[in-house]
Amino acid sequence: MTVKRGLLIGRMQPIHEGHLQVILKILDEVDELIIAVGSAQKSHTLDNPFTAGERILMIGQTLADEGVDPSKYYIIPIEDINTNAIWVSHVKMMTPPFSVVYSGNPLVQRLFYEENYEVEAPPLFNRTLLSGTEIRKRMINGGNWEKLVSDKTIELINAFDGINRIRHLYKKEISEL
Ligand code: NAP
Repeated sequence: MTVKRGLLIGRMQPIHEGHLQVILKILDEVDELIIAVGSAQKSHTLDNPFTAGERILMIGQTLADEGVDPSKYYIIPIEDINTNAIWVSHVKMMTPPFSVVYSGNPLVQRLFYEENYEVEAPPLFNRTLLSGTEIRKRMINGGNWEKLVSDKTIELINAFDGINRIRHLYKKEISEL
């Protein structure tokens, strides 16, 4: 039997309930899912506060807590490269073979489409609230970010001192304006 393997790529800064719903839905459609953690080299910035390793733990523990069979997915960090035209080859080099790509990002869609991959846009769930930007903003402003992420993600962000980290980065950024 041929395994239908999909690829979902996102920075997941941090993984939130929207990503989780998308992952669970895709897992109904494929035999195996590659969850690629994009911009893996980035951390300690306001847009990318968490390291790839921290993001991998948040994703893995969230899925484990949901009872998702770990043989159904791979979590793989993917660093950015300067050249879009060879990015798909770079992703392929780092991952098991896959036939379908899930992305809402027009650049990602286009790059895979040009390499003859089947590309699907996953549905967006409650985007006003379930967005990495909104969650990071709430972390800085003292809003209720916890409501938008899993219990495991809350635990890990607290263990990483993530809220103090992002507030510290924010203070540094405004002091440099
Ligand atoms: P992203 O920068 O993580 O996300 C872009 C936007 O799409 C964010 O607002 C994100 O929201 C949203 N989004 C992500 N997944 C979604 C989903 N399933 N449903 C609804 N909205 C979603 O970019 P990305 O497209 O998810 O990830 C692409 C990764 O590939 C990035 O790390 C990018 O740097 C990398 N890339 C690299 C190259 C290169 O190196 N040359 C080329 C192309 C792409 P949230 O913030 O809520 O996730």
